[in-house]
Amino acid sequence: MNTTASPKTPLPVPSDDHLEERSRRARTEPMSVLSLGDGLYEVESASEHTYLVDLEGGRCTCPDHVFRNARCKHIRRVAIEITAGRTPPPGEIAVPCHDCETTVFVGEADPAPFYCEAHTIWPGDTVVDRETGDRLTVVDVSVLRADAVRIDAAGCTVAEYTTNESYDPDVPVVGAIYPHATVARHGVVPESLRVYVFPRTRLEKQPTRAGSA
Ligand SMILES: [Zn+2]
Ligand SMILES: [Zn+2]
Repeated sequence: MNTTASPKTPLPVPSDDHLEERSRRARTEPMSVLSLGDGLYEVESASEHTYLVDLEGGRCTCPDHVFRNARCKHIRRVAIEITAGRTPPPGEIAVPCHDCETTVFVGEADPAPFYCEAHTIWPGDTVVDRETGDRLTVVDVSVLRADAVRIDAAGCTVAEYTTNESYDPDVPVVGAIYPHATVARHGVVPESLRVYVFPRTRLEKQPTRAGSA
C-alpha cells in the first residue's frame, strides 16, 4: 500500500470560469460608459458595439445577457465605474460646474445652477460681484429664486433689478454684505452693513488662500 501523500495540489475553485472571466474583462477591457438618466447606461465596447444597461433591473442588451441571462461584463463595468466615482449612480446625472469644468453628480430633479465643491458658497465665504468686482461676505444662501424675491426699495424682484438683467431669473438668491462695513459703538448701522441680495450666478466664490485666516 502506498502511504505516500499525494502531491499538494490546489483545490479547484468552486466557481464558474465564465463568471471569473467576465469579472476580469469587465475591469480590463476598454469600455466607455455614458449615463443616460433613469438608471440607464450606454456602454460602448472595445469592438465599438453599443449596449444599453439597466443597472437596477440588472439588464443589458448584449447577447451574453439576452441569451445566457448573465451578469455580463457591461453590467459589471457600470457598477465598477459608479463605485470609482466616474459615473453617476441611478437617480443622479453628471453636469459641469457653473463656474468651472469640474463634473458634479446631482439629483436628476435638482434645479440648476450646479457647483462643484470649490464653487459652492456658504455663509462666511468671500465672493466677488461679477458686475462691479466688489468683494462681499456671504451671509445667507437661499433656496428662493431671483424672480420670487422682491427688493422693496426698488419696487421689483431681484431678477428684474437693472444690473441683474443678464443673469438667469430662476437661480437662487444670495444675501451678502460689504466686508468693509463697520459699526461705531452705539452708532447707527451704516448703509454699508445692509444685506444685499444677488442672483447666485452673479457672485463668484473666491478661492480660499492657503494660510489665510
Ligand atoms: Zn452586456
Ligand atoms: Zn467649480
